[in-house]
Amino acid sequence: QSQELSQAQIDYHAALQALVEDGTRMVCTGRMHTDRVCRFESLCYSTEAEEFVYFHSNSSVMLPNLGSRRFQPALLDLSSVEDHNTQYFNFVELPAAALKFMPKPVFVPDVALIANRFNPDNLMHVFHDDLLPIYYTMQQFSDLDMEARLFFMEGWSEGVHFDLYKLLSNKQPLLREQLKTLGRLLCFTKSYVGLSKITTWYQYGFVQPQGPKANILVSGNEIRQFTKFMMQKLNISLEESSSEEYIVVFSRTINRLILNEAELILALAQEFQMKTISVSLEEHSFSDIVRLISNASMLVSMHGAQLVTSLFLPRGATVVELFPYAINPEHYTPYKTLTTLPGMDLQYIAWQNTNREDTVTYPDRPWDQGGIAHLDKAEQERIMKNTEVPRHLCCRNPEWLFRAYQDTKVNIPSLIHVIRQTVKSKPGLKKHKLSGSLYPGKVRDAKCQASVQGTSEAKLAVSWQIPWNLKYLKVREVKYEVWIQEQGENTYMPYMLSHQNHTFSENIKPFTIYLVWIRCIFNKSLLGPFADVLLCST
Ligand code: UDP
Repeated sequence: QSQELSQAQIDYHAALQALVEDGTRMVCTGRMHTDRVCRFESLCYSTEAEEFVYFHSNSSVMLPNLGSRRFQPALLDLSSVEDHNTQYFNFVELPAAALKFMPKPVFVPDVALIANRFNPDNLMHVFHDDLLPIYYTMQQFSDLDMEARLFFMEGWSEGVHFDLYKLLSNKQPLLREQLKTLGRLLCFTKSYVGLSKITTWYQYGFVQPQGPKANILVSGNEIRQFTKFMMQKLNISLEESSSEEYIVVFSRTINRLILNEAELILALAQEFQMKTISVSLEEHSFSDIVRLISNASMLVSMHGAQLVTSLFLPRGATVVELFPYAINPEHYTPYKTLTTLPGMDLQYIAWQNTNREDTVTYPDRPWDQGGIAHLDKAEQERIMKNTEVPRHLCCRNPEWLFRAYQDTKVNIPSLIHVIRQTVKSKPGLKKHKLSGSLYPGKVRDAKCQASVQGTSEAKLAVSWQIPWNLKYLKVREVKYEVWIQEQGENTYMPYMLSHQNHTFSENIKPFTIYLVWIRCIFNKSLLGPFADVLLCST
């Protein structure tokens, strides 16, 4: 993997001429800066100005052409974190004629993906904000293949997890600092700028307290396609016939410690009659950790970024997240949200230390490790007395940091009790059944026939055929929901039926028009679409 850009692939004079004559061309997807990814030809970057440059010429294209709205607040988010004001992308404009007076451009021959990493030293952020979004942005555009090159513009150094970023393409990713060594004016032949947010599930609390994103669009299937790719790149084979079942305790060794870890490991082993092993980011390589987690029946860990490795658990496994004293598990749910995504097929259990004697606090540490000595006495006392951290915004709330960096002596009976409420026998792995999660199509050939008895009674016989896809599926339970609405009314009568026809007589009036809505439901929860409404006159 070379850091040099191979200029051999490029006919320099042709490239320069194309840039001068055609200028920059940009076409974007997305309606707002928060959902936009742009494709460029001949986008340039001045390493002296640290600005991207758009050259206007005869053939330039700029879509969307926003005018000054391009600065309100930006063209797009360069990281996958929504609307963060340190992560905006924009460019400055110049006439292509200005190139005559500028440094000689250095052309980047590789197709480039240009983006910001959000927090490359934190494993949760690495996976959630960077790796998954990069992987699926690359899936969205076919020329972003393994020969594409990643450019990270946030300005950080490689960071402790750089090896993971390297797995996403065959070319060495380049950092903002390194661009200076390549030239004063870089021109990307073909590039994509920005990241898809379609896989993110959590918002970190910049504008409202942290929590799951409002409209989650990713399911376990896409997460597992990504982890399958990562495991192939890490040379980890999925062991189909796992010989022995075991529990993994993921421990932290610097802070937020489990103080009685040996006792915890012994208790888990005894209770579930399973081998129980402990891993940490300090003592194991990342691929060893993934190899172990990808075959584990249960993962037990303190709340913290290391829990994002739940991504790699096999279906049917259980995640047990431990929370220090005064931290309400319901208020910090990045890992609960991940493990309970539809199709992840994991069980999630939260345990919280509710015993003040079992917590060890560090009021005298620096503020960013949870110290509170810099606060005034009254505030320190309030924090010490409080039994729950109130909801707060990211990222420097001292009461949150104080409680988040406590060490905990885990109360074993209380933890086992909480796990046993969910895991009845041995924590097991279950085999995946695809047909269990497919939705019905519309019911077909719906018909109604009315009959009137006298002046006050009427009947409505309704029938329909099964959805077209049902004949190819094995479905445990097929039901039909029918809504009968009198035309002009905004209420309706709902019915749940097992057969493909029914005669309705309750509340059916003669000489009235009814709207009949029918849909199929698989296994109680898989609701299909309504068929076209039936108009029935009695
Ligand atoms: N970390 C670790 N061991 C420790 C403490 C932290 O490996 O004892 C890792 C952690 O997994 C994360 C990074 O260091 O990737 C930053 O940890 P921090 O406590 O700041 O964040 P959190 O885990 O609360 O998200």
